[in-house]
Amino acid sequence: MPELPEVEITVRTLRPKVEGKELRALRVLDPKIPQVSPLLGLPAKVDGIFRGGKHIVFAFPKKLLVIHLRMSGRLAWDEGESVPKHTRLILEFPHGRVLFIDPRRLGTVEVMEEFSKELGPDALGDLSFLEEALRESKAPIKVWLLDQRNIAGLGNIYAAEALFLAGIDPRRPASSLGPAEIARLKQAIHQVLNEALAAMGTTLSDNAYLTPAGEIGDYQPRVYGKEGLPCPTCGTPIERVELGGRGTYFCPRCQR
Ligand SMILES: [Zn+2]
Repeated sequence: MPELPEVEITVRTLRPKVEGKELRALRVLDPKIPQVSPLLGLPAKVDGIFRGGKHIVFAFPKKLLVIHLRMSGRLAWDEGESVPKHTRLILEFPHGRVLFIDPRRLGTVEVMEEFSKELGPDALGDLSFLEEALRESKAPIKVWLLDQRNIAGLGNIYAAEALFLAGIDPRRPASSLGPAEIARLKQAIHQVLNEALAAMGTTLSDNAYLTPAGEIGDYQPRVYGKEGLPCPTCGTPIERVELGGRGTYFCPRCQR
């Protein structure tokens, strides 16, 4: 699933293409997507595009168009005419199109008056709230980090990577983390997200992510998806456990 870095790269890449430009029409190609055009009052100028957690938000003068990519969705910028397979929605501009391509059809499209998703603080922002917030939860730290109401933007890949860098066992109750561990976790979250942004995100077979220009993301996970392979730090085989219904990868020696 695309996480904060992939969504942020998508927004940054599309910004110069769509900001201040007029959206002429919006074509819904999948009956699972609501007919949002009448709500937006097209044609209408795009005032801005921004990221809210893992949501992509197109701001129009009166409404917001909010897209969540979920498991396999991506947005592509395209100046051609043909419609690629799995395209569910097309935003038509005078000079090109934004395609919403989503093989598993789990992504969502909605129109909102204001951005009002129930999201915790953004994972790229100030994380000083963690000391107090973690103290109040007995959930495994990995499960806690994935809950967007606690902290917005992390998913299965970067939560695992951050916990590895911080040397914290993902099964530990959130409330058991000490001040030094929380300090390491805050630093590790920012490090993995910034590394992933610099690499244009992560492309794996299970997230099908490409930038809007069709490029792969080049972030190389240290532990995610590496079950049985040697830990990059100590050589111990990486283990996989299920936590909150999600596969979780960690080094049993480096993470305590
Ligand atoms: Zn290790």
